[in-house]
Amino acid sequence: MQEGLKSRAIQFLPDQLANQIAAGEVIERPASVVKELLENALDAGATRIDIELLSGGMEGIRVTDNGAGIVSTELPLAVSRHATSKISVLDDLLSLTSLGFRGEALASICSVSKWEITSRQREQASAGRISYETGDQVRQDNHPAGTTVAIRKLFYNTPARRKFLKAERTEFRHCDDMIRRMALARFDVGFYVRHNGRQVHRLPVVNDDIGQTRRVAKLCGENFIHNALVIDIPRSDIRLWGWISKSEFSRQQTDLQYFYINGRVIRDRVVNHAIRVAYQDKLPPGRHAAYVLHLEIAPALVDINVHPAKYEVRFSETRLVHDFITRSLKEALAQSGQLPGTVHAYRKDDSAAQYGVIREVDSAYQQVGQAAYQQGHTIFLHQRYAITKDDNVALVIDLPALLAIKNTQKWREAYQLEAMTCKPLLIPETLCLTTTQVRAYEQKQSLLEKLGFDITQSGPTEIMLRHVPTFLQMYDFKSLLFSMLENGSSSELFAWLQSILSAQDIELAKVEIKACLDAYHSNETAYQQCVHTISEQDLLSLMQKNQ
Ligand code: ADP
Ligand code: MG
Repeated sequence: MQEGLKSRAIQFLPDQLANQIAAGEVIERPASVVKELLENALDAGATRIDIELLSGGMEGIRVTDNGAGIVSTELPLAVSRHATSKISVLDDLLSLTSLGFRGEALASICSVSKWEITSRQREQASAGRISYETGDQVRQDNHPAGTTVAIRKLFYNTPARRKFLKAERTEFRHCDDMIRRMALARFDVGFYVRHNGRQVHRLPVVNDDIGQTRRVAKLCGENFIHNALVIDIPRSDIRLWGWISKSEFSRQQTDLQYFYINGRVIRDRVVNHAIRVAYQDKLPPGRHAAYVLHLEIAPALVDINVHPAKYEVRFSETRLVHDFITRSLKEALAQSGQLPGTVHAYRKDDSAAQYGVIREVDSAYQQVGQAAYQQGHTIFLHQRYAITKDDNVALVIDLPALLAIKNTQKWREAYQLEAMTCKPLLIPETLCLTTTQVRAYEQKQSLLEKLGFDITQSGPTEIMLRHVPTFLQMYDFKSLLFSMLENGSSSELFAWLQSILSAQDIELAKVEIKACLDAYHSNETAYQQCVHTISEQDLLSLMQKNQ
């Protein structure tokens, strides 16, 4: 033994150090922070979660939820080790329905980052805020009901950890993967995600089959969904439901494999094995199945307190669960060749009136679409077009084009009223300019200000961006700013903006559909650009081909 170690007295670790050591177990990289913060938001009953990442989460992670919130006086406890509101006696672990219970995530995260938590319970008049600077001191603040946890500079005080972080792109991919996993776990929660100011996901709450399928299609790809079966196999104390790839579809990697137990993200060897066995002779060697599968089981039959990040589980009846999964999937795959192409229910055994439903995604999708159209509902095609019935023709609205028109209009109005709203960046961005760009910047400084940018020159060829126009925050505002420096006057700017903004998020455009149709019918010229008519016959053949 080393002399030095031997002669030291035994003492308790200071809190901060103990937390940093604990962080070593749970907080490996930005994605682990994302996971813990999302779990907390879900445990708080949030139905909407906004996630903002900077530089792959290494520079900043901000998660805002509309959940139950934390009472101001308890904020200091939330960041203390072994403080949790989720369990109080050991037996609680047996009937656990929350994702967290160890009470150490926030303490760990806060010990290795610069953090700030703002939270308000619905009935409180104002929110409380604590941060790494104020410690236990709670300040009053404004915040809608719910919680925002913002952290910056992950591992700034633990250089050994920071060294293990990878490139921004890699860290972002890990965060994104985590978010996808969570979004596929909870269809009843809306997820809105931005990275470096740019929107990456916009996943509103869904509450029906088609909505769920659409979310799966968005996150796992249309290709998967067109080659997937929907399954739902309930038994008395266990149920397996979700989407699985047909045997004709396989992947080189295991990247499209999502498995949940009671809504919890799981990577478990027993489960993996059970699924592999089901696909065993169906896939070419070296190829992997794709799936989004939810297992629901009585909490008492599964122990989740096996792994610090809670990825692994222990079943009390391992064999039973294993065989149930294998059998269910095998049956579904065997049925798939014979499906008549519509929703199909089969009876497992006549004695128990327990059905399993297996069906092709495509046909269900398509039939619902056609029926909805005939009933006068707006339907969507290719993530791009909204289609509605108008007498005997179909009106096809090009949503990205609509969005561009709307946005440009709004922006122009606000600009004319000098009422552009802007939003502070979590961390100001420093941009390096060429000398030509510096000259352009000097000329356009007041124009940019009027547009809602807050920029200061921080060096001879360097500017610092502090606020961006609210309306632009979901775009890649940095490259927009650069293009603005290269483009001309404000009127040119608007025309140019309209052309580039069109390729963006269509979910936003959906709320404008009605206004758009009204404007179209009253012959407003701007809208003629985004509404087209086609015959119903053409529409049907289009849908049959594509959906
Ligand atoms: P755990 O989730 O294991 O209880 P955490 O350290 O993640 O431990 O959180 C500590 C406590 O802080 C939680 O038990 C909960 O009471 C509170 N908390 C954390 N995040 C939120 C949130 N987003 N909304 C409401 N309460 C929260
Ligand atoms: Mg937690």
